[in-house]
Amino acid sequence: MNKKNIFEQIIKGKIKSDIVYQDKIVTAFKDIKPKAPIHILIIPNVLIVSANQINEKNKDILTHVFITAIKIAKKIGIHEKGYRLVLNCNRNGGQEVPYLHLHLLGGKYLGSIL
Ligand code: 5GP
Repeated sequence: MNKKNIFEQIIKGKIKSDIVYQDKIVTAFKDIKPKAPIHILIIPNVLIVSANQINEKNKDILTHVFITAIKIAKKIGIHEKGYRLVLNCNRNGGQEVPYLHLHLLGGKYLGSIL
């Protein structure tokens, strides 16, 4: 199964994952190979392949993805110390899974990447 389909199956609950939040628009689940103590992926329930597919028509979905990430950060209590939101796009941006996903990383000092 390709990775895009894996994310689709996770949304439907057909592949086991640690889902931390789900509503009609987004699903959030723990990354299988966490790069920080907190590493959660937030994805839209409808396929958007990458940031390049974001447009005027679907922009509210992306807003909801970001708001959900921030709500999760507050709920688990990493908001005051801080966290990182990452949205990789295509090969040069380090995107491995062709299904738009926002990384929520935290739980330790992450340093600067720029
Ligand atoms: P990208 O490099 O595309 O921005 O990030 C893809 C992320 O998806 C990686 O951090 C990777 O560990 C995660 N991932 C890939 N396959 C699975 C899976 O089957 N389950 C979960 N929970 N995470 C996955």
